[in-house]
Amino acid sequence: MKNQKGLLIVISGPSAVGKGTICKELFKKNIENLELSISVTTRNPRHGEIDGVNYYFVDKNRFQEMIDNGELLEYALVYDNYYGTPKKYVIDKINEGKDVILEIDIQGAKQVKENYDDGIFVFIMPPSFKELKNRILKRGTEAQKDIDIRMKCAFDEIQHAKYYNYIVVNDDLDKAVENIYCIIKAERCKLSRYNLDLFEFKEEL
Ligand code: 5GP
Repeated sequence: MKNQKGLLIVISGPSAVGKGTICKELFKKNIENLELSISVTTRNPRHGEIDGVNYYFVDKNRFQEMIDNGELLEYALVYDNYYGTPKKYVIDKINEGKDVILEIDIQGAKQVKENYDDGIFVFIMPPSFKELKNRILKRGTEAQKDIDIRMKCAFDEIQHAKYYNYIVVNDDLDKAVENIYCIIKAERCKLSRYNLDLFEFKEEL
């Protein structure tokens, strides 16, 4: 009995909801066969961010070249910067039977859904709007103007949660990570993921 292709797992949610932290904690669990897609972006690295670890940081020309060459699975303009998912890495891993997590915005998720309907779409919700603002302020990486933009975007983004398959509320980090892990485990067991080759059993009769 073979589980052929890996899962394509899309995680979205408003700015500062904790998507990055959730993914980081998830990967600390060393879950077998789980990979994280590293996005390409034209935004400047934040303090402590490393090229090739957090993102591949590129200029606009290189990003445009990647679009023109069909190198991106999806891409979007988010807060004045471009972000995209390198296609080859994701497709290769899925074909190897590995599950891949894409931490991307709602525009990108929509594009993925159009092309990979069997993807798993998870939306991370803040416990409240007030708490979300606190988290953005606490992060301290955005100017006041950007905070206002991100809050407005967050409101619009939350309206799109209904297009996702799962909602995970990040009121407690450990619980949120555990819920995502449970979703992945359950999805791995879905009948539709398997090729039920009965002859494999017949030989054992
Ligand atoms: P940040 O600048 O805070 O790292 O990310 C800003 C937003 O861009 C987040 O909502 C994040 O999920 C989204 N994002 C990151 N990588 C990608 C990507 O490859 N594609 C798309 N569409 N959005 C992305």
